[in-house]
Amino acid sequence: MFKKKIDLFKLFGFTVSVDASWLIILFLVVWSLAKGLFPYYYPELPERTYWFMGIIGAIGLFVSIIIHEFSHSYVARINGLRISEITLFIFGGVARMKEEPGSAKVEFRMAIAGPIASVALSLLFAGLYLLSNSLGWSTPTTAILGYLSGINMLLAVFNMIPAFPTDGGRILRSILWWKTGDIYLATKIASRVSIAFSFAIVFIGFLDMAGGNFIGGLWWILIGTFLFNAANMSYQNILIERSLKGKTVRDFMNPNPIIVPSDITLREFIEKYVYRYHYKMFPVMDDGRVLGIITAKNIKTVPRTEWDNRLVREFIQRAGPENSIEPDTDIKTCLSKMERTGLTRLLVMEDGKLVGIVTLKDLLEYMALKMELEE
Ligand SMILES: [Zn+2]
Repeated sequence: MFKKKIDLFKLFGFTVSVDASWLIILFLVVWSLAKGLFPYYYPELPERTYWFMGIIGAIGLFVSIIIHEFSHSYVARINGLRISEITLFIFGGVARMKEEPGSAKVEFRMAIAGPIASVALSLLFAGLYLLSNSLGWSTPTTAILGYLSGINMLLAVFNMIPAFPTDGGRILRSILWWKTGDIYLATKIASRVSIAFSFAIVFIGFLDMAGGNFIGGLWWILIGTFLFNAANMSYQNILIERSLKGKTVRDFMNPNPIIVPSDITLREFIEKYVYRYHYKMFPVMDDGRVLGIITAKNIKTVPRTEWDNRLVREFIQRAGPENSIEPDTDIKTCLSKMERTGLTRLLVMEDGKLVGIVTLKDLLEYMALKMELEE
């Protein structure tokens, strides 16, 4: 839904970050606790106390979600999967894996770890709540403990909705995967089920709204839409993953890229190369030796009047690890390099020699064609 995320802290080697949507949610949680839930169940406390309880409750929820995600990550790690970061999303979190789980069993264990942690937290808070009640701890303490017990149970239930890529969806997929032995087929079925669920949730939202519960209905619609997007995206991811499996840069590179000589003027470069081919980056070579690259961005600041007396040579950026890649590199590594550097064209270098150029456009076209022909 939102792409912005904010890194918070590092714990046991995992980077914990929040999706921008979470900040809005955090505010909504504090607000609805302070103005709704706590005054409803515990009337006659001072206004300031409700806000204080709301903030503590929201922090408790936040910590609970992190514990939920950590349990996924922990199980992933003891099963040999690498988890790089944990992002908190709209109603829960996503532990981002660097790779898909290797077997149905691992995926099942990993997925179920989160809801188990949430149920355990819920029981723990329920115990404390009862203790607080019987020992006569302060009303706000009792209220917050009761809330945390309830919200953790709700989190467990929500995450068990079989809408991929939630935990329930992953559990469903792992069972299908185990039964069929085919992860792609399992993902396909799990995504269909998820999409059906997300439509049902949006539908409930509209019914709720029609029945007069506007805010409640809006929540359902928001969650349904989020699940729909997520299910769609994760299915596409797995298709892309499949179409790129085992492929290297060599499979996609253009071995005869357009080369620019270093001794032409900027005007010649712009008219004969940039306007003609519309590429953002060209390799610059002299006598078969790569000097580096020239990009349209590099020369943007040069005024037109100087185009005739400045040479390409002056604007060369050295070829180096940041703008080049080796031909035997895995294509997924190449894609993440493009994503990281923002470069859509990379030089393909082997033993200091230019052997081709690899472009994001070619990769995307290949993936689109492959999906069109095989689905
Ligand atoms: Zn989970």
